[in-house]
Amino acid sequence: MDKILEEIATLQISSAALEPSESTRNELLRQATDLGNDFINTITDTPSYSNAQVSKDLSFKKATQSIETLLDLYKTEVASKGINAASGGHFGYIPGGGIYTAAIGDYLADVTNEYVGSKFASPGGVAIENVCIDWMKSIFNFPSTAVGNLTSGGSIANLIALTAARDKRSIKGASIEKSVVYLSEQAHHCILKAFRIIGLGDIIIRKIALDEQSRLRTDALLTAIEEDKEKGLIPSIVIASAGTTDTGAIDPLYDIGKICKSNDLWYHIDGAYGGFFILVQKIKDKFKGIEMADSLVVDPHKGLFLPYGIGAVLVKDQAAVMQSHYYLANYMQDTLDESLVNSPMDLSPELTKHFRGMRMWLPLQLHGVAPFSACLEEKLLLVQYFRNEISKEGFMVGPKPDLSVSYFWFPKDKRQNEYNQKLINLMMEDGEIFFSSTTIKESFVIRVAILSFRTKINEVNRAIKMIKRVKLKLDNH
Ligand SMILES: *Cc1c(COP(=O)(O)O)cnc(C)c1O
Repeated sequence: MDKILEEIATLQISSAALEPSESTRNELLRQATDLGNDFINTITDTPSYSNAQVSKDLSFKKATQSIETLLDLYKTEVASKGINAASGGHFGYIPGGGIYTAAIGDYLADVTNEYVGSKFASPGGVAIENVCIDWMKSIFNFPSTAVGNLTSGGSIANLIALTAARDKRSIKGASIEKSVVYLSEQAHHCILKAFRIIGLGDIIIRKIALDEQSRLRTDALLTAIEEDKEKGLIPSIVIASAGTTDTGAIDPLYDIGKICKSNDLWYHIDGAYGGFFILVQKIKDKFKGIEMADSLVVDPHKGLFLPYGIGAVLVKDQAAVMQSHYYLANYMQDTLDESLVNSPMDLSPELTKHFRGMRMWLPLQLHGVAPFSACLEEKLLLVQYFRNEISKEGFMVGPKPDLSVSYFWFPKDKRQNEYNQKLINLMMEDGEIFFSSTTIKESFVIRVAILSFRTKINEVNRAIKMIKRVKLKLDNH
């Protein structure tokens, strides 16, 4: 017995580092917040992109490292390389956010380590997650009986929604190869990935033709559904986009909703990028019909400027979501209580999860919704301003966008694609403002995506200046 106590005493001493003293905690936090403040204070002078590769050794050493050494490594190897996703100069892909007050939410969620898989374990934490979900239900006009989940991002949110669709429509076994999904060719690739993951890799995917604005054509959708019915196939799911990744197009949500209703199809809307623009009063009408969806995905880590790691799904049919996600294991019998059904763990593949609600709830409580909608409206105007300014430099621009993503290219009689490819290579090399490219109708074009809360008129003017500078370099080459 004495021996056990002796060993325990020794181990208690060797594991003591895991609970630093208050003065150590304060010192660690001070150094981390110094880095954070320095990062934010200098962010406008920092390039938005650096192609430098990791050059220092990040591996675990035999000896422990000091916080100074580690923060220095973080600063030089992590925070200064690749795309600076927190920068207002990030105009590529779908830009990120990272509002500061969300980080405070994460800090608290981590320190108190709420277990928000179930209401039993953290009634308050789950209540906060549900406040966020209920708020989203209200802005998208979903009924209060709908359920939702805060996921790691849009991909998992889409996965949960499509799993519910699969179960509701009983797409399994021999019916998989006869069931049809209709979507725009601009639908996000995570949707096709989700079908493979949920065992529907052999489902029939119909890519519906788009109009000039890259919106799904409802006449083509109707024709496809009718043709499939005639062939004896089973039209099952329609996927519309409330803001495509490539061009920010919003499909005609209301008309598609009516088609889904009259043909008894599961209606899924992916609003991962665009959904939160519904908060902008003057373009709210573009989202008419979003409330008709059976399932909807939005990404607070895009349109609400939160740090990466939070997406959301809303589903009207609770039973459909629970069919795959509800599971009562023996070791969870203590959580068995009617009022506890509908915990996050019943609606998601995750059991233990990060308390994501806190990083959303805290900023919305502290700031209110108004600064978020103002910031989104600002993005819409900044993209218009960018298009005007870049046109003055002789560039062509794509059709007037629904949201804050557009594209442009410099016209050339010959080798236009090659010229624009060279241009973006030089833009990336410059790195002051980060852009990415895409191919639209076989033309190589440069995308302009404005969504960072830090993108202001100043960043747009700097972007125009950088493009002029880089183009001059290319032309004089
Ligand atoms: C970003 C995006 C996704 C994927 O979401 P993640 O959060 O990156 O997993 C899905 N759909 C659309 C339209 C998107 O813009």
